[in-house]
Parts: sequence; structure tokens; C-alpha cells
Amino acid sequence: MSRVYNFSAGPAALPEEVLQQARDEMLDWEDSGMSVMEMSHRGKEFTSIAEAAEADLRDLMAIPDNYKVLFLQGGASSQFAAIPMNLLRGKKGADYVNTGSWSKKAIAEAKRYCDVNVAAETSMCTPSQGDLNLNADAAYVHYTPNETIQGVEFPYVPETGDVPLIADMSSTILSRPVDVTKFGMIYAGAQKNIGPAGLTVAIVREDLIGDAMTDTPTMFNYSTMADAGSMYNTPPTYGWYLAGLVFKWLKGKGGLQAVAEVNERKAAKLYEYIDSSTLYSNPVAADSRSWMNVPFVLANSDLDASFLNEAKDNGLVTLKGHRSVGGMRASIYNAMSEQGVQALIDFMVDFEKRNG
Ligand code: PMP
Repeated sequence: MSRVYNFSAGPAALPEEVLQQARDEMLDWEDSGMSVMEMSHRGKEFTSIAEAAEADLRDLMAIPDNYKVLFLQGGASSQFAAIPMNLLRGKKGADYVNTGSWSKKAIAEAKRYCDVNVAAETSMCTPSQGDLNLNADAAYVHYTPNETIQGVEFPYVPETGDVPLIADMSSTILSRPVDVTKFGMIYAGAQKNIGPAGLTVAIVREDLIGDAMTDTPTMFNYSTMADAGSMYNTPPTYGWYLAGLVFKWLKGKGGLQAVAEVNERKAAKLYEYIDSSTLYSNPVAADSRSWMNVPFVLANSDLDASFLNEAKDNGLVTLKGHRSVGGMRASIYNAMSEQGVQALIDFMVDFEKRNG
């Protein structure tokens, strides 16, 4: 067996140790005689798995007791609708910051339910705090701390006063420590830094729960999900279990501060090389460059196909940029090792020598 370095934006590479543990436990989880996939979600075995995963996530992110942690389905995209349904709380409008493709999707969905005030709109950079045109009457402020497609990441957490701040952290959660108390809600699709696709994690401040729009579907209602411990219906049990293994793996690495140091080094090294090269370039403002998704273009796009083919021959895969922006993108989430990033740089250097 030979594993590649997988730079996919999501579903993304998972830590090899986690996959090995899942393999070892596949047929018989802790002498239960069953795979986790075969367990009742209400049985004592799965209950212990679910509780441990939540406890480890709370520990990793220092989530205070007055926040609920929900293990949901439907992807981050379902939250684009669930957020206005649950969090408007009788108000007419909400503020949205537009920094790229995922912000736009969140805005389009929110417009079905409320007046959207676009508090700032930027391209290839993030707005400064002073550029945010916030409405004191807004039900909440929504933003995308890391735009997965453009590779644009906020270097700061916006201040929104008494208005709850809602963050789509799909592609940056667990990449570095965050102060959860600054947020009304944090949510993320799992398939980048948490685990396999199919699970969505939401961390919601308790006082914001309980005032959903009357037409809110039961499955979208945070109150229902919180009261039922995310088990109103059958939750995505195997994804929840794998997420738990990833949380333990992160704790074993020393927690989010330690992980952040590695992530910062990986990103710095790759951007430094891209900036020094004449063949490759990255269009994002220096202070807004993502640690997790590094897009770059080749000076001559005729070389794109051979770049991708040769990278693949070198065990470096899924480097093609999103279809909406083209070029290349290296997603370097927590599970991408420093060796993986170095292997990519070594290949890029060699490719540039031959084609620059
Ligand atoms: N928001 C961001 C920032 C994302 O990167 C993605 C997925 N790439 C989504 C939302 C949509 O997530 P999902 O596919 O889980 O609905």
C-alpha cells in the first residue's frame, strides 16, 4: 500500500493514525463484537463514544458550559438556512460579511428568510474592523473566517458588540485556538478538519436557542436537537465516532496551540516559496492568506495540465483549483504533515526549473 499526499479541499486527508485505529476497530469495537456502524445510537457503547467525542471537543476548544455542541447532518449548507430560522428571533434582518464564494451562498440562502445587510464585500482580502458597516439592530452578524475556494482568511475576530457573531468555520475549525466566548455560534461541515463528510458540528450559545421561526422543520430546530442530545433521529454515528478519534489525535499532538504552530509553519513555507518564484503566484492580500487553503496560479496556464499530471506521478494529488476560480489549490489541513508540504514545494521547485 502506498498513500499519497492528498491536498483535497474536502473531503480531505485524515490522520493516518486515525484511519489505522478505525481499521483495527472496524469489525469489533472494544470487545463489543460489533462495528461502530452496527451499534444502536442509544446503546451504552455508542453513548460512551458520543459523550467522549463531545467532551474532547469541549476540552480542545475550551467550549464553556453555556454553549451546546450539536452533531448534525445536512452539511454546512443546511446551516445557511437553519441559522436565520433559529437565530432571527423575531428580528427582520441580519448582517453578512461577503468575502468569497461560501459567504455568497450563505447570503443567498439567508435572503429567503430575512433582510440581509451586506456589512462589507471584499475580494482576495478581508475587510478591516473599521470597514464593517454593522447594523445595531441586526439579529446577528455572519461571516466566513476562512473562504475555502479563494484561500482568504480573517486575521482577527470581528467585534460585534451585543449582536451575536456567527462563524462558518468549515475550513478553519481546529486549525488554531479561538476564543469561543466571542461567538454566538460556530459551525462546520466535518469533512476538512473534523472527520468524514456527513457530520456537521454546531456550537451554539444557549441563550440563542429556543426562539426558532414557527415553520422551522423539526430537524433544523436547534432546540429540538439540543434537548435530544443531537439524537432526535439517528445521528451520523460512524462520522461522530471518527470525529472523536480525530479529537483524541489532536489532543495527543498537544492541542490546538501546538497544532497552530505547525499549521503556521506549513503555510508560511509554502507562501514564501510561491512569492519567491517567477512561475507561481498567489493573489491574496498578505494579511488575509489562509493557513488551510493555498490557491496559486502558474504564469502560463498551458502548463496546468502537465503540472497536475506530474504532481500526481510524484504522489501529490488533488491540486486542481476549484472549478469556479481555476489554477491550483493546496489544502493543507491538520492532517497534512510538514513532510507533505515539503514534498509539494520540492516538486514545485523542480517543475519550475524545467518549465520556468
Ligand atoms: N462553507 C465553507 C467555508 C465550505 O468550505 C464548505 C464546503 N467546502 C461549505 C460551507 C459547504 O459545506 P457542506 O458541503 O458541508 O454543505
